[in-house]
Amino acid sequence: MTQVKLEHITKSFGSVHVIKDVSIGIADGEFVALVGPSGSGKSTILRMIAGLEDPTGGIIRIGERVVNDLMPKDRDIAMVFQSYALYPHMSVRENMSFSLELAGRPKAERDAAVAEAAEILGLTDLLDRKPKALSGGQRQRVAMGRAIVRKPEVFLFDEPLSNLDAKLRTAMRKEVKLLHQRLASTSIYVTHDQTEAMTMADKIVVLNDGMVEQIGSPTELYTAPENLFVAGFIGTPQ
Ligand code: ADP
Ligand code: MG
Repeated sequence: MTQVKLEHITKSFGSVHVIKDVSIGIADGEFVALVGPSGSGKSTILRMIAGLEDPTGGIIRIGERVVNDLMPKDRDIAMVFQSYALYPHMSVRENMSFSLELAGRPKAERDAAVAEAAEILGLTDLLDRKPKALSGGQRQRVAMGRAIVRKPEVFLFDEPLSNLDAKLRTAMRKEVKLLHQRLASTSIYVTHDQTEAMTMADKIVVLNDGMVEQIGSPTELYTAPENLFVAGFIGTPQ
């Protein structure tokens, strides 16, 4: 089943056209990387799927539903950003349960969801700490914990590892993949790092200047790039 579908999506900011007729289909359970240079429109596409920006034209579906007019909270998605955006005055536990509290979930349910997420992410012993007492990797795990407590169908990641050092980044790639598999979710992962895309994704969407250059598996893009842009982008080691 197709879980997320973009049909002829365009987006303009004033007279500037930043997304130009993008169509992408993402299957249930797939891990898709959205790659492209800075300014190519990756974050804008993710923000439209999340409902943080409205497309100028085109249709966005999640599951069977057209979600263009749905508020972010009604879309059954969760987004993990590059900046951890944790609340500094709240403990790890409070950071993770906050969105459930806003949604009016009872305390017992919140506690159970936080305990489960903490167990999955190895945060059980850190629940009473404040963000400033955590390492970069631990903070990123809390950011993911905040997303998974709501058990969304679809995860959106916007360059979640780019603030981490190289060694930690490699380790966290595996964690993000395990999380995706364990939750049986559909994930859309934005990165400008082609190594990350090549090692993590089932399918890669290569964007350039608001347009899709090619969609394929890592092997397809590597062995059969359709044009010089894709060959250059995928083939150049960072
Ligand atoms: P990426 O995430 O691939 O680096 P973005 O989606 O952030 O790219 O941006 C794509 C283009 O849209 C850029 O040229 C950027 O300047 C422009 N853009 C993004 N958001 C806005 C906005 N709110 N207002 C005006 N232009 C924007
Ligand atoms: Mg971006």
